[in-house]
Amino acid sequence: MQIFFPKEEAHEIRATILPEVAKKFVDLGIEVNVESGIGEKVFVSDELYREAGASICSEKEEGFNNADVVCKINKPSIEEIKLLKSGSIYISFLDPFNEKEIVSQLSTSGVTSISMELVPRITRAQKMDALSSQANLAGYAAVIEASRTLSKSFPMMMTAAGTISPARVFVVGVGVAGLQAIATAKRLGARVEAFDTRPVVEEQVKSLGGKFVKIDVGDTGETDQGYAKELSPEQIKMQQEGMKKICSQSDVIITTAQVFGRPAPKIITEDMVSAMQPGSVIVDMAVSTGGNVEGSKNDEYVFKEGVTIIGMSNLPGEVARDASQVFGSNLFNMIDEFWDEENKEMNFDLEDEILKGCVITHQGSIVNESVK
Ligand code: NAD
Repeated sequence: MQIFFPKEEAHEIRATILPEVAKKFVDLGIEVNVESGIGEKVFVSDELYREAGASICSEKEEGFNNADVVCKINKPSIEEIKLLKSGSIYISFLDPFNEKEIVSQLSTSGVTSISMELVPRITRAQKMDALSSQANLAGYAAVIEASRTLSKSFPMMMTAAGTISPARVFVVGVGVAGLQAIATAKRLGARVEAFDTRPVVEEQVKSLGGKFVKIDVGDTGETDQGYAKELSPEQIKMQQEGMKKICSQSDVIITTAQVFGRPAPKIITEDMVSAMQPGSVIVDMAVSTGGNVEGSKNDEYVFKEGVTIIGMSNLPGEVARDASQVFGSNLFNMIDEFWDEENKEMNFDLEDEILKGCVITHQGSIVNESVK
């Protein structure tokens, strides 16, 4: 079996795989082929991949044409899908609820496609969960970016020249990214408060040294996968009322609120931004799915009445080396889980709970129930 890792698009800093993980594939008996320059943005040379046992391919087309499995981080272009062999396997983030054309082309091309977003949140699949591995690093990077932009220090400092008060950080949405943002801001010495519509996270916030902000928005709840349910417009209004004061007192707000498969809820209004002190910073981590903050823009720093609103869509790319390491490991763990040692191929049992959740197309049709 041959597996091909093409270079990502020009804007992507992460590499799909690093040499340490390439070696693990080679040790399984899989032929690994990487596109020349795949690791250049994380300072990993072709030579290191070669030393790990991979072959280097200088023509993307050739790599796609010959591979039994192709893995990327970002969704493929239609042209790339057309290069895939019929019957081959393609794995990456696919955004399948929004990318109808991509899903349809994968199906027409007879490709078995796996969407990394749809790996189910069950214990056996945790090691393959790329949403979590990337969100964790994104939460860290968001706080570092905010601390670089804020003109205040995060920790309290008692000096001969007087006491510097700690920065106040408010985290909205306490999933994987939010928890790491709380932990990072605490490690830097900030005073941290947080809110989520799922009351079960209160204990987690407290265990990290943060204060959970209680806002009564009525009935909330979560899905069997642990995702939040969407709030009604009235509930969002109640949430905004409850958050107003604390937003105006915060030096940094980090928003991570997402509802799986839906646009992100708009939570921070223009008025709430205006009520913040000039010099404050907001990081809108949901910017690429519509944004939690009015006025935030994808891949831009927006300045509004002295407040900086940061909308970076690729925060894991700020710690690209580590993000590449864990993404590659997620892929390896997925392929290893379904590797048939005897026949040296992937064993595709579509009744398996994990594959049932994340396989989108197979043998010319769309097989995923939720995408269908
Ligand atoms: P996510 O990215 O879908 O959403 C981020 C957070 O936003 C969630 O905590 C959500 O409750 C919150 N949110 C939604 N609407 C909001 C609103 N209006 N105001 C404030 N917050 C709002 O979530 P995620 O990071 O993918 O994690 C979701 C849950 O799944 C977490 O509890 C996480 O610990 C759990 N999880 C479980 C596994 C597993 O394998 N068992 C793996 C990863 C995550």
